[in-house]
Amino acid sequence: MTFATVEDVLAKYEPTFGLETHVELNTKSKMFCGCSTDFGGEPNTRTCPTCLGLPGALPAVNALAIESTIKIGLALNCSIATWCRFARKNYFYPDMPKNFQTSQYDEPLCFDGYLDVEVDGVTHRVGIERVHMEEDTGKNTHVGGATGRIHGADYSLVDFNRAGIPLIEIVTKPVPGTGALAPEVAKAYVTALRDILRTLGVSDVRMEQGSLRCDVNTSLAPLGATEWGTRTETKNVNSLRSVERAVRSEMIRQAGLLDAGQRILQETRHFQETTGETRPGRSKEEATDYRHFPELDLVPVAPAPEWVEQIRANLPELPAARRARLVESLGVSADDLQQMSNAGVVELVGETVEAGAPVAEARNWWQGYLTQQANAKEVETAELNITPAHVARVIALVADGTLSTALARQAVDGVLETGDDVDAVIAAKGLKKVSDTGALEAAADAAIAADPDAAQKIRDGKVAAVGALVGQVMKATRGQADAAAVREILLRKLGQA
Ligand SMILES: [Zn+2]
Repeated sequence: MTFATVEDVLAKYEPTFGLETHVELNTKSKMFCGCSTDFGGEPNTRTCPTCLGLPGALPAVNALAIESTIKIGLALNCSIATWCRFARKNYFYPDMPKNFQTSQYDEPLCFDGYLDVEVDGVTHRVGIERVHMEEDTGKNTHVGGATGRIHGADYSLVDFNRAGIPLIEIVTKPVPGTGALAPEVAKAYVTALRDILRTLGVSDVRMEQGSLRCDVNTSLAPLGATEWGTRTETKNVNSLRSVERAVRSEMIRQAGLLDAGQRILQETRHFQETTGETRPGRSKEEATDYRHFPELDLVPVAPAPEWVEQIRANLPELPAARRARLVESLGVSADDLQQMSNAGVVELVGETVEAGAPVAEARNWWQGYLTQQANAKEVETAELNITPAHVARVIALVADGTLSTALARQAVDGVLETGDDVDAVIAAKGLKKVSDTGALEAAADAAIAADPDAAQKIRDGKVAAVGALVGQVMKATRGQADAAAVREILLRKLGQA
C-alpha cells in the first residue's frame, strides 16, 4: 500500500524519533583560545595558532562556556559530572585545521536529564541523554561550480573565523510512544529547548542563522515489534516547522519502503525546504571510526559541587514555571487557555497583561489581528516584530481615547514594519484622533452633501442609514475621527438627536 499520511503509517508501524541539537554559545571568545567569536569579519582574521592547529599551540578551556553548559544541563534536569575530559574526534576535512575536533566522547559534562513538553494539553517527557561541549569547524566556500557545491567547482576557499567557536550538543534519548503526534512532539521539544536557551541567555538561538541547528533521527518498527527499526538522520533542519515536516516525511517514506519489503539504510539525509522531503546523503552503513581518545593537552573539567549549586540557585525563572505563573495570574478557563495555547500566545498574552493591559484586550489583539498577521507572513506569532509591551501601550492609548480602533491597527502595522516604539510610530505617521469639532462638522456637512439620498432617509427616521455617512467621514479623516462622535454630529445635523 502507499502511505499518504502519518495516520496511514500508524496502522502498521510505530515511530521513534530522537534529536541532536547543536547550539552556538554567545561567549565573546572561542572555546579554546582568546580569538573573537564575532560573526563576519575578513576571512581568517579571527584566528591564532591554537584555532589554526599549528604545532606546539596549547588550548585552554573557556570558563564561561563551561558555566553556560552547566546552566543548560541544570535547566534540562541533568546530572552534572564532577570530573570529565575532552576527547579528540579524529577525521580529516579541510575546514578543520587540526584534523581532529575537540569534543566530549564518553565523558559528557551533563547527562541523564529530561524536558517535559506539551502538545494538545498532554505532557510528553523527552529524555536527555547528554549535553556536551565541542567546537565548531571553519567554513568552506566552493567557487566556480553552478551549485556552490564541491562537484564542478574550480577551487575551494576556507575561512577559519568560525573554527573553535563553542558548540554545545544536546542529545535526546530515543522518544517512542508518541504515535501520530511524533512530528508535533519533536517540534514542541525544539521550541521548548529554544525558549530555555533564550531564557538562560547562553545563545542567540537563531535557527535561520545556524546558531541553533537540529539533526532529526527517525525510525519505524512494525506494531508490536520488540526492537527499534533502523534509523535515518536528517541533517541541519533549520526551522521549527521543518523539524515537524522532517519527522513526518521520513515516517511516510520509510513506511513505503518497509511495506515494499525493502530495508531502511542507516544513512544521513538532507532536508529539502522546498519540497518538505529528505534526500539521501552519506551512508553510515560502514560506521566511521573516529578513533576517539582523551585530549591530554587540556586539564579535566571538574566543577566544584558548590559552584554547580551556586549556578543552580541563580538560574532565571524557566519558561515552564513562568508559563504556569502567567496562566495562574490570567485566571482564564481551561477552554480559553487551550485556544490561546493552540495559537501559541499564552506567554504573549500573559506578558501583555503584566505590562498593564486587561486580559480581554490582550487576548483580542494576540489571538485576532496579530495571529492573522503572523499567518499572512508564515511565521510564528512570537516571531512578529512586536512585543507585549508595544501591544499593552496600544491598548492603553485606545482606553484613554487617544487612538480609535482603526488608528490602533495603523499604529500596530507601523510597529510591525519598523519595530519602533508605539509613540514614535504615532508621531511619525501623524496618527491622532481628529477631535477638532470644526473639522468634524465640516466633514459631516461634506458627507451629507455628497449623499443626499442617505441624508433624506435619516431625516425620515431611518437612523440605520447613518452608517454610510459615518463611513464617508471616517474615510475623509483617514480613520482619525472618533466614530461615535461623528455619528452624533451627523444625527444632530439631520434632526435625529
Ligand atoms: Zn584562536
